[in-house]
Amino acid sequence: MTGIYIHVPFCARRCPYCDFYSVPYRADTAEQYTRAVCRNIVSLSGQGISADTVYFGGGTPSLLTGEQTGRIIKAVQNYVQLHDPEITLEANPVTLTDRKLYELRQAGVNRLSVGVQTADNDQLSFLGRLHDFPRAGKAVRDAAAAGFDNISCDLMLGVKGQDIPSLDRTLEQLLSLPVTHLSAYMLQIEEGTPFDCDAVRRETAGEELMAELYLHLCGVMRAAGWEHYEISSWASPGFRSRHNMKYWTLTPYIGIGAGAYSDFGGARYSCPRDIEAFISAETQPCVYDDPPDRAEEYVMLSLRLSDGLDLARLREYPGGEMYARAAEKQAPAMIEHGLMIPTAAGFVLTDEGFLKSNAVIAGLLV
Ligand code: SF4
Repeated sequence: MTGIYIHVPFCARRCPYCDFYSVPYRADTAEQYTRAVCRNIVSLSGQGISADTVYFGGGTPSLLTGEQTGRIIKAVQNYVQLHDPEITLEANPVTLTDRKLYELRQAGVNRLSVGVQTADNDQLSFLGRLHDFPRAGKAVRDAAAAGFDNISCDLMLGVKGQDIPSLDRTLEQLLSLPVTHLSAYMLQIEEGTPFDCDAVRRETAGEELMAELYLHLCGVMRAAGWEHYEISSWASPGFRSRHNMKYWTLTPYIGIGAGAYSDFGGARYSCPRDIEAFISAETQPCVYDDPPDRAEEYVMLSLRLSDGLDLARLREYPGGEMYARAAEKQAPAMIEHGLMIPTAAGFVLTDEGFLKSNAVIAGLLV
């Protein structure tokens, strides 16, 4: 079944490490944007689309009012066949007031992804975040009290001042919260951002420390009984992100909003990162990518998952036989180096393999 992604490109303040497309929040623009999103959802009507996930990503989707979020969900319910949906909204902790949480529940949101990042207040201020950890912890506990039983937290690795004991303290705090899912990201210095300077490079984790932090995180989460189901994602049993799984299993999704990507009807396309153009168009403009090589994509995406690569499935894609043979040829060396493990159907990466996934996947594709 299809996933519906709604991109909400507003932020209260830009974080100095981020290069995502977003504009400063303004109430009037957010209202025009909401109307444009709804118009685009209406345009999906009559296509027989069945969906089981809706994901509000950003930017900061929790800057929309509860009423605006509800209007968008209502439009999806009216114009797309929605079945037992997982409806996720990414939220900044400072936006999650009791009233907002109540309105989001009423609107049908049943999963929150909260940008906690770290439990260390110095690290949060280094990241330019608007919240401290007590505020983030309160937001998560308030969300649970408001009826959210599926809450994900984001964690940032490699921040200034983060070492193994500091990461342990953060994990202890995070795991004591009512959360079901964790997404961990390695801090990248993106070109052109305020973090793109030597001083920040010196202060943040280099390759060696980043690897230690990641492997340590893998160990702690395993010991805590969480499923490491994707390179950067951990879930308590039964709480994988159903929407994100669509990206990694080549399942169709429709993205709506300025900067949103779609993979639908066999084509990959995106709406330009131009909020004015999105708001003023009757239906969003689309820019089509070159036809994707699905077999190659399957190799790259399946190896992000703990489910791993299935050679029989790879062979079903056009050109898949060539990649399957290359993978079978290269695999023994990867297995010997502890980067991969053979499975009944194919291969799966180890923690070390996840860490070096770019090199491993490139090696398998030659
Ligand atoms: S990290 Fe999130 S909140 Fe910060 S600027 Fe980027 S999209 Fe906005």
